[in-house]
Parts: sequence; structure tokens; C-alpha cells
Amino acid sequence: MRKIILSISIIITLFSCKNTQKDNSKLNVVTTTTMITDLVKNIGGDHINLQGLMGSGVDPHLYKASEGDVSKLANADIIFYNGLHLEGKLVEVFEKMKNKKAIAIADALDKSTLIGSEYFASNYDPHIWFNIEYWKQATQFVVKNLTDAIPEQKESFKTNGSNYIKQLDVLRNKLETVIETLPSEKRILVTAHDAFNYFGKAFNFEVVGLQGLSTATEAGVQDVQNLSAFIIEHQVKAIFVESSVPKRTIEALQAAVRSKDHDVTIGGTLYSDALGDAGTIEGTYIGMFEYNVNTIVNALK
Ligand code: ZN
Repeated sequence: MRKIILSISIIITLFSCKNTQKDNSKLNVVTTTTMITDLVKNIGGDHINLQGLMGSGVDPHLYKASEGDVSKLANADIIFYNGLHLEGKLVEVFEKMKNKKAIAIADALDKSTLIGSEYFASNYDPHIWFNIEYWKQATQFVVKNLTDAIPEQKESFKTNGSNYIKQLDVLRNKLETVIETLPSEKRILVTAHDAFNYFGKAFNFEVVGLQGLSTATEAGVQDVQNLSAFIIEHQVKAIFVESSVPKRTIEALQAAVRSKDHDVTIGGTLYSDALGDAGTIEGTYIGMFEYNVNTIVNALK
């Protein structure tokens, strides 16, 4: 008898453990990049089961779905992804699903306002999160889609969305104040790949990426030579590594500049296509943006 009671209590414990991890009454939402995961978390809060596929330091251009990801995607009620072919290797997976549950954040934006690009099959630069005004539109888009899925949480999503938009406005003002301290001739941002074009357009920086828009194409010797000449000509003080891209290309660029008797420092590691570690300040969109801008401005001053 004692044994039976013990087994029953073990079974109950197992079940209750399972329930604390995943609440089956909630909507299963799957997101791709860490930027989108952070956004959806801010709006959905405790009303959804949220699973992000990519972690910090993960390059979305090269990311392939694992077997576990495929089952997460299959079990999802809604999937939020960036779109514009950012997740180059997942496009087919989303297309295969051929149902309405996969939602591209880029659909929140008017295509005529995007930066064009011949590198991507979408014909647009997909790094849209670096324009804070676009991210505000993305916020409203997530509010709308979550509300369509869970109408009874309408007020909660609406409140979360407007609170988050207020935080994004505060962020933008803060960043503008920091960037104003950098003279316009020093606003040249050289990074491993062209993730910062929207940032450059919004904050008046000239942006040059060594690798082009996608990390799927490697920089050639000629690219390194051309860019090192540009750095010397414009007296660029610092160039930047990215957390989701191997740093060897930027180190090769630094070596090329030094071989011509000039110096350029590596100004730090920027978060481009992935946020920092979960649980840190840089693991949020707002923290990432502040960190990037402080790093850029301090190194180029
Ligand atoms: Zn990128």
C-alpha cells in the first residue's frame, strides 16, 4: 500500500512539474531571432507560451532548423519571423507550412520605405530592427496579431504595446543625445557585414560592411584592400566586430590597414543580428541598442 501511495505521489509530482514548464491552455508562440523573441515577450507576457529558436551569437542568415525546431514549429499556433529572406535557410520551412500561422514581422512595414538590396531574393535589406520607428510599427503589428489569436487578452496586449512604444521613444531620445556628441565627419561605421544600413539612415552614419548584406558571402581579398584604402582616406579610428559573425574578417581588415603604416583599432563587439545573452541588459532590444551606440560613439570620438 505504501509503495502504491509513493508511486502515485511521484506521478503527481511529475505531472505538476510538466505543468509548470508548459501551460497547455496557452497559445504556443515560436519566434526566430532574439530581437523578435524579446519583442513578442514584451507584448505577450504570461499570456503565451513563447519559444525562441535562435539564441545569442546565432547568425540568422546561416541558421538551419534542427529536428527539435521542426517539431516546435509544427506545434506552434503562431510563428513570428523576420522575413525579407533574413532567415535564408528557413524560407523553405515556412513556405512548406503553407498556412496562415507563420507571420513575417517585415509585413508590418510599407515596402516603399525599405532599403533596397540586390543581395536578397526579397530585394530588400532585412535588418529592419535597426530603425526604432520600424520597431514601433512591428510592436503594433505583434499586438494586432496576438489580439486576433487571443481576443480576450486584447486590453493587456494593448497596454503592453503602448508601454513598450513609450520605452522605444525614450530610447530614441537617449541615443540621439549620445550620437550628437560625435561630429558628423566621424560618423563612419565599418563592420563585418552590412547589418547597419537602417541604423545609418536613421542616425546619419555612413555605413560600410566588409561582407555585404548577408554573412553567406565571404569577403574577398579585393574587398579588404578597397576598404582598408577607404579607412585610411577617411581617417577612421575604429572598426567593429559583430557578436554573430566570426571576427577574422575584421582582423584581416585591421592587418591590411596596418600593413600600409596606418593604425585602426577594433572598437568593440556590436550586436547586429542577435542580442546578447538572455538575462543580461544586452539580451534585450533596448539594452542592445544602447550598448551598441555607446560602444560606437566611444570608439570613434
Ligand atoms: Zn545580417
